[in-house]
Amino acid sequence: MKNTALLYDDVFLTHEMPEFHPESRDRLIAVQNVLKKSHVWEKLIHLDPQQATLDDICRIHDADYVEKINTYGHGYLDPDTYLSENTPKAALYAAGAIITAIKSVKAGEIERAFCAVRPPGHHAEADRAMGFCIYNNVAIGARFAQSLGYGKVFIADFDVHHGNGTQHSFYNDDTVFYFSTHQYPHYPGTGSAMEKGNGKGMGYTFNVPLVYGSGDKEMHDAYHHKLHTLVEQFSPDIILVSSGYDIHRKDPLAGLSVTDDGIRDIVRGILSSKRDIPAVFTLEGGYSLEALSTSVLITIEELLGFE
Ligand SMILES: [Zn+2]
Repeated sequence: MKNTALLYDDVFLTHEMPEFHPESRDRLIAVQNVLKKSHVWEKLIHLDPQQATLDDICRIHDADYVEKINTYGHGYLDPDTYLSENTPKAALYAAGAIITAIKSVKAGEIERAFCAVRPPGHHAEADRAMGFCIYNNVAIGARFAQSLGYGKVFIADFDVHHGNGTQHSFYNDDTVFYFSTHQYPHYPGTGSAMEKGNGKGMGYTFNVPLVYGSGDKEMHDAYHHKLHTLVEQFSPDIILVSSGYDIHRKDPLAGLSVTDDGIRDIVRGILSSKRDIPAVFTLEGGYSLEALSTSVLITIEELLGFE
């Protein structure tokens, strides 16, 4: 069994949404309820997330943007992304969770982690909120990992939506590899196979656009063949994962048809490297409460390395 941490804090529930918004606090309540009743709960190392610092956030985001988040009050930042009174604090802890996990990996306390956080992050750009995301948690985590000496970071993103913000953060960079599977064409519109990086980052972005209705078979090819080969070639020091469960066939917001077994197969593909590379997963989307909570449990079973 692998030493695996779960990072969660009730502060994530204080990021409040207008009624009927899909990215609700009920998502994390459902996840916690399922995990607490399951066989994984006692096996996990439970870590309290720390708050990200301004320096941590500003490795990815503009200081002006952070100031806007801190002073906005409440209301919509874009057609989808709502900011409530406590959102700035919750967002700092969402980014801080991946930082805490990476620190703990570096200290040798854990080998793997799952950060059950909200708001999610992968659509957030340097200077703007987008698609329910305030700060780009996984991108902030990648830069933080590098500050601790993890030179090469591989980001895998299996959310149904393309992680435009993450891709843009590292598009010119050959030290952070960005790999994404996503429904395409779909929100946010980026993520064609032609987008491969720029300058010295050319070849360090790899997009796998999937047509409506794609499912377990396409994901198996992406994660057991394409990603596996890329990870072996790039030889990262740490793998960070944007875990979006809106790929599930029960998800109301998108059109892929991944099953519970398909989720397990994706996670196995990500963890199938020949070397034992530390892996930190952070939650992105997933809007069917049932599919989300079951999928997180499956992911954690695989992180723990249950047979
Ligand atoms: Zn998504």
